[in-house]
Amino acid sequence: MRQKKFTREVILIFIGLSAILGLSLLLLPFSPLVQAQTAPTADGFSPPLGFRDGLSYEPRITHNNEGQLIETTDYGVKNPDLQGDTCFGVSFDQIYHAGEDWYRADGSSTAGAEVTAVANGQVAFADPTMNYPGLVVIIEHTLASGPKVYSVYAHLDDSSLEVEAGQIVSRGQRLGEVMYQDYFGRYPEYHPSGDDSHLHYELRNFYNGRNIYPAHPHCGGLIPGRGYTYPEIPDDFPTPEAGYTDPASFIQERLAP
Ligand SMILES: [Zn+2]
Repeated sequence: MRQKKFTREVILIFIGLSAILGLSLLLLPFSPLVQAQTAPTADGFSPPLGFRDGLSYEPRITHNNEGQLIETTDYGVKNPDLQGDTCFGVSFDQIYHAGEDWYRADGSSTAGAEVTAVANGQVAFADPTMNYPGLVVIIEHTLASGPKVYSVYAHLDDSSLEVEAGQIVSRGQRLGEVMYQDYFGRYPEYHPSGDDSHLHYELRNFYNGRNIYPAHPHCGGLIPGRGYTYPEIPDDFPTPEAGYTDPASFIQERLAP
């Protein structure tokens, strides 16, 4: 009788331990120990386009025949070429660009251009179902001096996405390709190709853009944000600690050797 009870207790303990062990194994992939795969430091930067193809890319700045600026896709500026209503309650040509739109410098279509990681980091966002239009990738970079910055790549072709959230990436790693977009601006006579394919590229101090527009609730809800700020300029938005930065200058000052 004693012997039998002892055997039953041993069996119960064995079952209990097996259950605990099984649960631990199941939870292992979610434990901090396994997740703590850290990206290498972002010790040097490269532009997001032209890494391998040898071509030049830059914001598009257009003047009309009278020398008046009719288009700029630079950082922190209003683009007189844009038209239509926005979630900010003012027209598109009144809001400030939070990034830069890069086009092929030779005027050819930018569709299909290879987009690459500007520095070592970890993919924080890569929703394959987004329509920004096109897809958006956000990479988190840890600078050698400690702080984190986030690079944002928008208008990638749906079928070209080559990374997923959580993935460690290195500088120059292929993320995808620029999607084709039609031109819908104010000055079609200065854009005869009808092509507006470009990379919208941002560098900023925050990841989540869902609630960065408290004064403009219709603009909320997107982790990438809206790519524009209003009425503040992007340097001051949403606060000095969580704003955007001029992407071309930032990269130029930290170019990888
Ligand atoms: Zn843009």
